[in-house]
Amino acid sequence: AYVDGRLTPLRDAHVHVEDRGLQFADALYEVTAVLNGKMLDWPHHIARLRRNCAALFIDFAMSDAALTLQARRLIAVNGQADALLYLQLSRGTAKRDHGFPANPRPTLVMTVRRFDFHQRTAQQKTGVKVITVNDMRWRRVDMKTTGLLANVLAKQDARAAGAFEAWLVAPDNTVREGGSTNAYIVKAGRLITHPLSESILPGIARATLLRLAREAQIPIDERPFSLAEALAADEALLTSTTAPLLPVVRIDENAIGTGSPGPMASRLAALVSAEITAQTGW
Ligand code: PMP
Repeated sequence: AYVDGRLTPLRDAHVHVEDRGLQFADALYEVTAVLNGKMLDWPHHIARLRRNCAALFIDFAMSDAALTLQARRLIAVNGQADALLYLQLSRGTAKRDHGFPANPRPTLVMTVRRFDFHQRTAQQKTGVKVITVNDMRWRRVDMKTTGLLANVLAKQDARAAGAFEAWLVAPDNTVREGGSTNAYIVKAGRLITHPLSESILPGIARATLLRLAREAQIPIDERPFSLAEALAADEALLTSTTAPLLPVVRIDENAIGTGSPGPMASRLAALVSAEITAQTGW
């Protein structure tokens, strides 16, 4: 692990008990895929982190080049070809007080943990099941903070139901996104997904998928869709760093389309795979 400027074995990697990430979830994070030892979409993750730092007034002085160097060093010493790089940046450590401390020094920690992306290739063939839950999160989930309790509870409900993900449904019955993934449906050849707003996380995998779909001249509607519309869709899918593209074949107890992965999911999965190969050789 990387902790505040030092590489250390994971078992010795600690932050202070008064770190504000621990006490207030006053912290940002990023998860980046490492494939063949190479970081996927890394500049986009840095850009999102910087945007969130600005939004939360976290003064993170490290340059992009220095951050990249530290991340690469950590990946190299870990020696895992396929892994997830987890980066967390808190406002810093200070005597507990809700307001910002006078001169906070942000705490940066990073870990690299092995991750099996091949399991996703298998899930791409079968498709996955999602359940639906009420979206209980706060109103600024566009910022990637570690305050994830609502997501944790949603994911646990999904796990208990034998599902891969929980889709978070707004009071007006629109589907926002999953607990840790973005959500899409396909109707009459069009790819439909919730527009960027304060009520979804702007996923890096989402941006990649929409770019690739646009380049392939697949019609895209960035608009809210209802749960009823999702149940009547031809196909459904989800994306994230850890699941670059998975077909959704069941929502709660309802089969979507034929109940098997459809042609749009296969086409998009091929585009995403080609992009990952282009970037990392995976
Ligand atoms: N939505 C939520 C709520 C998430 O937590 C994540 C993953 N962090 C995503 C979407 C997907 O984002 P990305 O494609 O950047 O992994």
